[in-house]
Amino acid sequence: MKGMGITLKHLFDNKVTRQYPEYKKETFERSRGMLTVDMDRCIACLQCMRICPDHCISIEQEKRDADGSGKAKPYAVGFVIDDSRCMYCSLCVEVCPVNCIYHTEEFEAQAYNRLELARQFGERPVDPTIDPKPAVKKKPKAAKKAPKKEAAA
Ligand code: SF4
Ligand code: SF4
Repeated sequence: MKGMGITLKHLFDNKVTRQYPEYKKETFERSRGMLTVDMDRCIACLQCMRICPDHCISIEQEKRDADGSGKAKPYAVGFVIDDSRCMYCSLCVEVCPVNCIYHTEEFEAQAYNRLELARQFGERPVDPTIDPKPAVKKKPKAAKKAPKKEAAA
């Protein structure tokens, strides 16, 4: 009876849960949601790709006279962000010199297939399965020199 009393008491309390996904809680200011990139402002400097510790950004660039200045500059023709690897550390956002990659309020990164989590932004799709930063081959350590034998007395 005591337990049933507690159940009945809470039955008529104000609800503290929401019927997600119909009703979503507002995100906090500066929360880190899924990334997006403004391709019109991207200068294809590759800094975000290089700094990403999880290798989730791949950029394909080519030289192109996009602004009609007569000079061919690097242009990002392909840009993919793989949400299945991203840990939302924001390093790519901090390093971008033109602030064109940033977090949105979107946080529902889910799919039935891992490859569907790779979001394409450029005009040419980039294969997300290719690691953009192949492992750097380390130079073999030099063999330790044998200690010199002490001259015989
Ligand atoms: S937030 Fe971090 S893990 Fe995600 S793409 Fe940017 S640098 Fe990589
Ligand atoms: S750091 Fe910014 S400008 Fe440079 S490639 Fe990445 S998104 Fe583009």
